[in-house]
Amino acid sequence: MRILLKLSGEALAGDKKTGFDEETVRKVALQVKELTEKGTEVGIVIGGGNFWRGRTSENIDRVKADQIGMLATIMNCIYVSEIFRSEGMMTNILTPFECGSFTKLFSKDRANKYFAKGMVVFFAGGTGHPYFSTDTGVALRAIEVEADCILLAKAIDGVYDSDPATNPDAKKYTEVSIDEVIAKNLQVVDMTASIMVRDNKIPMRVFALQEEKSIVNAANGNFNGTTVTV
Ligand code: UDP
Repeated sequence: MRILLKLSGEALAGDKKTGFDEETVRKVALQVKELTEKGTEVGIVIGGGNFWRGRTSENIDRVKADQIGMLATIMNCIYVSEIFRSEGMMTNILTPFECGSFTKLFSKDRANKYFAKGMVVFFAGGTGHPYFSTDTGVALRAIEVEADCILLAKAIDGVYDSDPATNPDAKKYTEVSIDEVIAKNLQVVDMTASIMVRDNKIPMRVFALQEEKSIVNAANGNFNGTTVTV
């Protein structure tokens, strides 16, 4: 089985909201290690919100703001990759554009080669284009490398019919179709990514990163979150 795990940048920051929280990242590392030791192939996509967000930076050109955002995702992957290595895993970072010798250029063949060696593959730098996001990045890479599913580790423990922060009667789905997610704009991933996973039939599992063993449980399909069916 091949899975792509998406972590938001904020998730890496823990309670600090910016930068890195090593304890949080180590917990992720140990869970990914458990999965790879059992033969699951794991790819990782990380957001950049702990450093920078293109669309909310006000006074500079959006294309340039997004370039900074993409670089932020690479910093995040380098950090997380090193924590993974310190826990005994083999890793490689692939980017859609050259970053000197810091990373390697993405290709499907290269990703497959690393997966076959039991390495965790980080897909950094998003899609390599402005006006996209790491949601579209994870959708695109999942489709390209033919992943079985996308795991979305979030601050919230699943998909709700309305925002539980503002509506105490919000209902959590155990399962919801991608068509319903799109029709009701439930914002599991952004709309561009939603259409991509729908058209290419990649299911998603949404769960809370903070819950004990949530990544392992979600990978095994026995988890306390929401499955988005396609
Ligand atoms: N980004 C981009 N293209 C991509 C992926 C990311 O331009 O393919 C930039 C964009 O500026 C984004 C930032 O990188 O705001 C961080 O990515 P993330 O997906 O965390 O952003 P968010 O959706 O939270 O804004």
